[in-house]
Amino acid sequence: METREIVIIGAGPAGAVAAALLKRKGHDVLVLERQTFPRFSIGESLLAHCLEFVEEAGMMPAVQAEGFQIKNGAAFAWGDRYTDFDFGDKFSPGPGATFQVQRARFDQILADEAVRQGVQVRFQQEVTAGDFTDQGAELQVRDLASGESRSIRARFVLDASGYGRVLARLLDLERPSDMPPRKAVFAHVEDRTAQGEFDRSKILISVHPEHRGIWYWLIPFSNGRASIGVVGDAALLDPAAAPPDDLLRQWVDAAPNLKKLLRNAVWDTPAGIISGYSAAVKRLHGPAFALLGNAAEFLDPVFSSGVTIALKSSKLAADALHRQLSGEKVDWDADFAEPLMVGVETFRAYVQGWYDGVFQDVVFYEQAQPEIKRMISSILAGYAWDTNNPFVAEPRRRLRMLAELCRACAAQ
Ligand code: FAD
Repeated sequence: METREIVIIGAGPAGAVAAALLKRKGHDVLVLERQTFPRFSIGESLLAHCLEFVEEAGMMPAVQAEGFQIKNGAAFAWGDRYTDFDFGDKFSPGPGATFQVQRARFDQILADEAVRQGVQVRFQQEVTAGDFTDQGAELQVRDLASGESRSIRARFVLDASGYGRVLARLLDLERPSDMPPRKAVFAHVEDRTAQGEFDRSKILISVHPEHRGIWYWLIPFSNGRASIGVVGDAALLDPAAAPPDDLLRQWVDAAPNLKKLLRNAVWDTPAGIISGYSAAVKRLHGPAFALLGNAAEFLDPVFSSGVTIALKSSKLAADALHRQLSGEKVDWDADFAEPLMVGVETFRAYVQGWYDGVFQDVVFYEQAQPEIKRMISSILAGYAWDTNNPFVAEPRRRLRMLAELCRACAAQ
């Protein structure tokens, strides 16, 4: 039977970056990926903080060379209100810009870069079962080309299977998310927005004029195309009401700023729908395994936090696993799960605040103090683990206080 030191399930961003980080520390790493790359993935607007992990994994030159759209912030629109946050003007140290990426290409680059550094990546390999003890793991792997199954032993397994949620399913780790079921309908378009009408260096988040729980992303790419999506209550975005293409167009037309911006757009790709994406687990690690990225928890797309959380989990797990395999005692709660959850809980507070209106009142308040705006900008740029930022240290209390202040000032 094949025996490896580390097996990683999934070659998305979490898997590729964890693999490279571990390989760079001298470990034997095998990545098993069910699909063939390139493959479509949702999640195209990155946050600035995640580039620190891409850099540490030795992948930055390849990512930079691709010519992806530079992103330096996030803009929000609701009716005639428009606010933007500049990631360069932020409280926390770290990069102040990032990219908006076609994920098929971005994920391929990360996987190629892992291979270039000596990681073995096998495609069309589906992990179907696993036994785990403190001594190691034995995985059942089906080759999707031949249909044959075989076993692979590993000292440790990192599950980076994203929405596949392989170990959460196999080991009964799934826990319902505290986010209500929402749905996203999305497509890529040739946007043909007029010069100067749209800041292409920012993601544009627009809010529906009446339903404040319905919002849209417009993520420009560097080639004149853009990703457009609408997110909201699963019952409102009902595909029984209209085919996905019509549903998307109807909801986009209901947001006057987007209707205007996209008036000349060419809608040349079919719309996709994704629902039930918010997910959680009972625990993030166990004997000979840890869960990375979306294979663990996914909150909500509104602040584009998914890839950043995924890469943060890869970094924390790679450091902990390297120490463990080097003979040190690792406390996976203290060294992995708890530090990871600091940022997840920060994002959770802001996501919940977005949907209950508290954070929207902050975002659309036009007289924000510059220092407070810099702290919020930091979080939107992904620095959700920087507890020097008071809005990270006490996200819920600070956010409520700030919202009350903004509401009181706006009412004057
Ligand atoms: P993935 O990228 O999903 O990779 C997992 C890989 O594992 C896949 O390639 C899959 O084929 C493989 N796999 C699955 N099962 C198996 C198996 N049994 N065996 C072997 N391989 C397997 N995030 C952002 O950062 N920015 C955004 O703008 C953003 N927008 C989003 C919009 C929506 C509507 C949604 C739902 C999510 C969005 N996200 C966004 C989140 C983002 O999609 C994810 O957080 C991110 O892709 C997670 O990366 P990952 O590496 O954990 O998983």
